[in-house]
Amino acid sequence: MTIDRKWRSKKKRALEVLLRLKRLYPNATCSLDYITPVQLLVATILSAQCTDERVNKVTPALFARFPDARSMAYADILEIEELVRSTGFYHNKAKNIQGACRKIVEEFDGEVPQLMEHLLTLPGVARKTANVVSAHAFGNIQGVTVDTHVKRLTNLLGLTSHQDPIKIEQDLMKLIPKVDWENFSIMTIFHGRAICNARKPNCLECELAELCPSANRVIKTKTRSNINVDL
Ligand code: SF4
Repeated sequence: MTIDRKWRSKKKRALEVLLRLKRLYPNATCSLDYITPVQLLVATILSAQCTDERVNKVTPALFARFPDARSMAYADILEIEELVRSTGFYHNKAKNIQGACRKIVEEFDGEVPQLMEHLLTLPGVARKTANVVSAHAFGNIQGVTVDTHVKRLTNLLGLTSHQDPIKIEQDLMKLIPKVDWENFSIMTIFHGRAICNARKPNCLECELAELCPSANRVIKTKTRSNINVDL
């Protein structure tokens, strides 16, 4: 799609995308259910390659059985595996959850650490999980959470040309005001679920189409073949 001259600047486009997402999703917030920071950490680990909806079905029983880092740290791993099985990759997830909880108990006095450099030492915790926990559990925005939706949409929107989440995050941190870093991720995820679905992007009804260099490609393909498009 040829983008109108006024949206040629990537920075201007990013800010307009942000503005429109805010209008579309004024109440967007983290969809994972949790009460404590460690519960958010565990829920975020479970959300890899899994929907938040599925995670929210699993965590009530998990947190009822193991409510804090200490109980999770020394639990029978088979019991954790069984409780998280339906989220997929349950061997690894259970191992990471227990590993992270042990480290929290043994090195951080049972409390999830707040510093990014400490969060990143926990097993199974990369910047995506660390950003979510930091922003939502501690109100400390330290980066942009890049999940599969954010990676896909920001590429389609031409806000980055990278596939590596770290590089995408660096690009977005330059384009989006810090105060909106986490909010931008959440709203982009909402838009990915509602409109810009990976298998069927609904460009004809997308409020971002005017700003999206990929819109025409998808609209044309849809009009021509009237089939789902997998970008
Ligand atoms: S215009 Fe299409 S490709 Fe671009 S963000 Fe919207 S739905 Fe996705």
